[in-house]
Amino acid sequence: MSFKPEPTSARRQTWQAFSLLRRAALPDQHHLGWAVLWLVLAALLEVSGPIMGKALIDEHLLPHHLDWPRMAGLLAGMVLTGWIASGLRYLQLVRLSGLAMRSVMRLREMVYTHVLLLPMAFFDRAITGQLVSRVTNDTEAVKTLYIQVLFVMLDSTIVLVGTVAAMAWLDWHLMLIVLALLPAVLLIVWLYQRWSAPAVTRARALRSDINGQMAESIGGMSVLQANNAEARFGQRFAATNQDHYTARLAELRANAWLLRPALDLFNIILLAAVIYLFGQRAMTAAEVGVLYAFISYLARVIEPLIQITMQFSQLQQSVVATARVATLLDEATATEHAAHGHDAGLAAARAAANDAGANGTPAVAIRHLSFAYNEGHPVLHDLSLEIPQGAFVGIVGHTGSGKSTLLSLLLRFYPVRQGSITIHGMPLDAIANERFRADVGLVPQDPFLLAASARENIDMGRGLTQAQIEAAARAAHAHDFIAALDRGYDTALGEGGSRLSVGQKQLIAIARALAGAPRILLLDEATSHIDSQTEQIVQTALDELRGTVTVIAIAHRLSTIRDADRIIVLNHGRIAETGPHEQLMQINDGLYQRLYLLQQLAA
Ligand code: ATP
Ligand code: MG
Repeated sequence: MSFKPEPTSARRQTWQAFSLLRRAALPDQHHLGWAVLWLVLAALLEVSGPIMGKALIDEHLLPHHLDWPRMAGLLAGMVLTGWIASGLRYLQLVRLSGLAMRSVMRLREMVYTHVLLLPMAFFDRAITGQLVSRVTNDTEAVKTLYIQVLFVMLDSTIVLVGTVAAMAWLDWHLMLIVLALLPAVLLIVWLYQRWSAPAVTRARALRSDINGQMAESIGGMSVLQANNAEARFGQRFAATNQDHYTARLAELRANAWLLRPALDLFNIILLAAVIYLFGQRAMTAAEVGVLYAFISYLARVIEPLIQITMQFSQLQQSVVATARVATLLDEATATEHAAHGHDAGLAAARAAANDAGANGTPAVAIRHLSFAYNEGHPVLHDLSLEIPQGAFVGIVGHTGSGKSTLLSLLLRFYPVRQGSITIHGMPLDAIANERFRADVGLVPQDPFLLAASARENIDMGRGLTQAQIEAAARAAHAHDFIAALDRGYDTALGEGGSRLSVGQKQLIAIARALAGAPRILLLDEATSHIDSQTEQIVQTALDELRGTVTVIAIAHRLSTIRDADRIIVLNHGRIAETGPHEQLMQINDGLYQRLYLLQQLAA
């Protein structure tokens, strides 16, 4: 047990952001070293310029000591240092920008790969627009952090310290006067912070609102237009847009008032002070060079301060954005969840699985399974059942009785905490992911199609041959309508398969599942949107699988599962009745009987 105090959230964020920054830049560390070296050299060269100018004026021009070779040397030195400094800055920028962009690239890849591995429970609370913005915008903040913030700050600090040191060396009295005005500058910086940071934060939040509203409206356009909501949504958008404009304007005002004008004013006050002081002293000729150098340096004191001030709010924003990415990367993936706490019984379970003869092992065994999405609201209560290999099992029950939930658990979308599920004798979370996904196929309640061709939608990147794809499509009875599309299997199906009817989408989803040659096939309402004739075709297809593939099918339409070896009737998350169709029909006033008779009446 450690007694370290909880870090404050701002400190924690900074820590998170910078450790992520290090992780993203790790393979590029040597570039970072070079970039810093070039930067330091360039800054020092720039500071040395006025000193040579001073020497030229004080030692040669004013005393009329015209030592031509040395004067030419000094002049050349001034030009050369400036020239080399810009060259070094170019080198530094190239190194740094490359490093920053590669970091962004790496980070984006890390985030996307990570999101792909997250458990389904995560997506119940995630908002799509925000997730997309994590992958695109927030990762970009890392670049800002490197280029705009860290290096500008480092650069400004080096120039500032170098300049002050040079001033002290030239005339430390004057240096002290310049430094005395520093608190006033810090006051402006502080004011700027107070004024501009909230506006910047607000503007950002509103911009993400604008994106969110746009995405939501496009996604729900048909609902929106059908409800005649165009004007209302237009007004809502205009209001957000106006707020964003106002926030940006406030940010701009803070910049326009405080940064340039106020700090430039200080520049002039300093200038006046320095000139006045020079006037006060009976100026000896030897000091004109010092005056020149001081005036050159004054601009270099103010400019870094302006830069640092401007970068400060950027820094806060970038740290927050980077910390958000870090938090997302800290979300435990599905496998990490599964690995949690289940290792102990694993070896025993494996041994048990090996002992049991392959054929006697049930395809699915569920023991005392209870489940809740949210604590205190159980959806499944103490379910126990066994499904033999190759069986065809139907699950029925009213809306919300927990049918889809049971499938989600079988698919490992959510971790099982109470009770157990084994598949072919193996505990669910002991099966390697690849193997598991190959063994268990799903036809979901709402078939999801990619904005790609029919072929790609069945293949799903598995690299199947045309023959395999066609065989799966034929088995799902999707081949005929796909072949009739204008470009056959290569026809683009539009976003979400918008070019197909819902029934056709379901057939494609069935073909996709069959193409993976699963040992267990789960269907959630696969026949709810297809006509009776097509339903019969699907029934035939399912029948053909009997004995080789274990089929578990949820169906509202009871005709689909009439021929099942066994039907499980769920009621409020409990198994109410179970058995084949004829047996269930015998139960007088039973749940199944009533459901069936109701549907007969409706037909
Ligand atoms: P339907 O026939 O309408 O598809 P179903 O039997 O498949 O219904 P489930 O989707 O399993 O029902 O839902 C069972 C219960 O769990 C419902 O009360 C539902 O509100 C709840 N539920 C489902 N999904 C979630 C979720 N992701 N988060 C929280 N609660 C959920
Ligand atoms: Mg359902």
